[in-house]
Amino acid sequence: MSHVTVVTPEHYNYGSMLIAGALRDLGHRVEIRKGFDGVNSGIVFISLQSTIHLLRYRDIINNMGGFRVVGGPVSIDPEMVFRYLDVDLVVMGEGEDKVGAVMELAAGNCKPEDVPGAAFRSPEGIVVIESSPCPMERPLPLVPGDISREDIRGASVYIETHRGCPGNCTFCQVPEFFGRKVRSRPLEDIIREVRELKASGARRFAISGGTGTLYGSSKFRGIDEDAFRDLLRRISEVTGRRNLTVPDIRVDMVNPKILEAISEYTNGWVFYGIESGSRRMLRKMKKGITPDQVVEAVELAREYNLRVAGSFIVGYPGEDEEDYRKTIELADELMLDDYFVSIAEPLPGTELGEEVRKLPEDENPVFMRSDERRFDSVAEERAFNLLLESYVFRSVPVPMTSRLLKSITEEVRQQQEHIRTVTWMLQGKL
Ligand code: SF4
Repeated sequence: MSHVTVVTPEHYNYGSMLIAGALRDLGHRVEIRKGFDGVNSGIVFISLQSTIHLLRYRDIINNMGGFRVVGGPVSIDPEMVFRYLDVDLVVMGEGEDKVGAVMELAAGNCKPEDVPGAAFRSPEGIVVIESSPCPMERPLPLVPGDISREDIRGASVYIETHRGCPGNCTFCQVPEFFGRKVRSRPLEDIIREVRELKASGARRFAISGGTGTLYGSSKFRGIDEDAFRDLLRRISEVTGRRNLTVPDIRVDMVNPKILEAISEYTNGWVFYGIESGSRRMLRKMKKGITPDQVVEAVELAREYNLRVAGSFIVGYPGEDEEDYRKTIELADELMLDDYFVSIAEPLPGTELGEEVRKLPEDENPVFMRSDERRFDSVAEERAFNLLLESYVFRSVPVPMTSRLLKSITEEVRQQQEHIRTVTWMLQGKL
């Protein structure tokens, strides 16, 4: 039995709890920690969610002793991980069924080549070992004692009901990380897990997995309303409907039965990925939806008394003033209950990431000069203006105060700095 620590830098993400659960079931003494303070075991699994973590935690990770393994979304690009981190192994993609082999490697009982899904340095360069997706039956997660204090965009925990998405959105890592075929977990396993999480203190649950309504789907771009309804009904029996939410829904993957289930068994919100009001940009993002579908989906949700939030992306490469104007017009027309605005983030392993890697700065809205001197870029200006406007045209307009204005300014400035940094990281400039 070994002493192992699973570390997640900022939030207890679901993947880290799952890895910790798999290690516990193998008989190891496992700690799960948020933040790197006090890590003193000889074997450390590090779950990194964001590209920026490679830079932000580089010095801490590189100065840690012991056998260090990195997993999580950053593992999609092991070359990039090894560019920043001096670690022993990267486990690419789904990792919970690989931890046994990793522990054998840490004990010196096998070679890195024997670990499926591993990436490691060799004198010839970085070697990647192929692997298959994990089975959907899985161990119970190891839940940290302070999970009740966790707050990830309003939820204590995001539970995974399925993996994979048939979508093809150029900015999203889900299809690359989990594949395009939807694989759903057995419902009884999900319920057992929700009970365990609740008993350990988790209060507010969100369903993750890319597009929530795809649970149980077995055909390409199909939805299974009965499976989805059963899923929500059974989970809400444990959590209470007010503590359950289904973020991330495609506007072309809802219908009356789906919305009725959301209305009946959740806190009554739908979160649509709208992204843009410009058909041209939606095509470029390969989102596979039109502004008309957005309008219809919002109207349909309102028929079920649901509150509707929408997420928008601005500053996508190639977005011009006309595209942006169409996004503002659509956002205005929809009068949503809440708006989320993001500057397009070039994630490794995505088509957008590849485009931005080669894009000159004078064609990248995150670097293109804005006519307004208070903004560092066109992207920052657009994100600021859309967010600002959204308080006027939401269903219940919110009066602008100096405090709110300051918070919008800071949020957008942080996004701008974040996206510039990850762009430079992708381009190998940092
Ligand atoms: S953004 Fe949503 S619909 Fe598009 S690929 Fe990702 S999970 Fe699928």
